[in-house]
Amino acid sequence: MKILLVDDSRAIAMVTCARLESFGHEVKHAINGQLAIDLFQSEPFDLILMDIEMPGMNGFETTTRIRALEGQEPWAWTPIIFVTATDTDSNLVTAIEAGGDDFIAKTVPENVLQAKMKAMARIAALRARLSLANNKLQDQANRDGLTGLLNRRAMDMQVDRLWEQAVAAGKPFSLLMVDIDNFKKYNDHYGHLAGDECLRAVAVCLGQCIQQVNDDLTAPGAFVARYGGEEFSVIIPDAPPGVHAGVAASLVEAVAALAIPHEKNGDYGVVTISLGAACLDPAVGQIKVLFRQADELLYKAKGVGRNRAEVA
Ligand code: GH3
Ligand code: MG
Ligand code: MG
Ligand code: MG
Repeated sequence: MKILLVDDSRAIAMVTCARLESFGHEVKHAINGQLAIDLFQSEPFDLILMDIEMPGMNGFETTTRIRALEGQEPWAWTPIIFVTATDTDSNLVTAIEAGGDDFIAKTVPENVLQAKMKAMARIAALRARLSLANNKLQDQANRDGLTGLLNRRAMDMQVDRLWEQAVAAGKPFSLLMVDIDNFKKYNDHYGHLAGDECLRAVAVCLGQCIQQVNDDLTAPGAFVARYGGEEFSVIIPDAPPGVHAGVAASLVEAVAALAIPHEKNGDYGVVTISLGAACLDPAVGQIKVLFRQADELLYKAKGVGRNRAEVA
């Protein structure tokens, strides 16, 4: 475990450090409450051993402050054990009230200390697993199962956040609405499973193109999401006006270049996309205006022959 030892006495800290290290733990020592809080904020610990009597901020107060810094999630919680010379019942009650989890005397026998550390290590491992599972769940909730792209829900949340930033910074915001051409005919002709494969291939292609414009810094922060069905959206939160037109054209070209056979797609013979691309100054209109513009342009692209981008 990684342990934060808070004690104003260097001598006691040295002895405790040595004992804990001999059990195989990694220990960092903070000589007062404020330094403990600073260390706690700069790196994660599995356990905190907290002295109670310290000049300035005592152990109870330090603990209350650390608890206030932790998030609401259960895995954000770090076990805190108070270590004190005055092993009284009233100290125990105050310790728990302050947000501590256990209480040991400075004179605690070696085997008791070792047993307590073992119990805490179990909790630390459980906490790490919980945190990992939560991250995975969070990621699954944000991704579309078929393509692995961000799903509509995640996109909406991102757009809300990024639009607010664009409003605050007075920066242009671009949106591309992408739709696969004659995809119903693709499904009807090649089957639904082949349709799924095609959706995946187009998603990968769009993702790679957007990654490229990110890497080239043409449109850093741009991302693609599965908007629904055979529709995708590309968000370009902060790029000079005009960039969206270049990105739009490159996407249309890249998907056609995949050369996925599509006999029923007019004269094109391969899978193609149509796209509406709009850019809006947040001072001029609301985000829904941008979505409407991009939709109208997509509709126009469909009307004038598909396999193209219509750009505002
Ligand atoms: P247009 O060129 O005008 O866009 O015509 P379209 O046929 O692509 O448009 P339409 O909206 O009529 O059909 C979309 C099709 O996309 C119908 C639906 O079955 C299919 N689709 C939507 N989601 C999926 C999916 O997850 N997998 C598969 N295989 N097909 C899907
Ligand atoms: Mg002390
Ligand atoms: Mg559609
Ligand atoms: Mg379509």
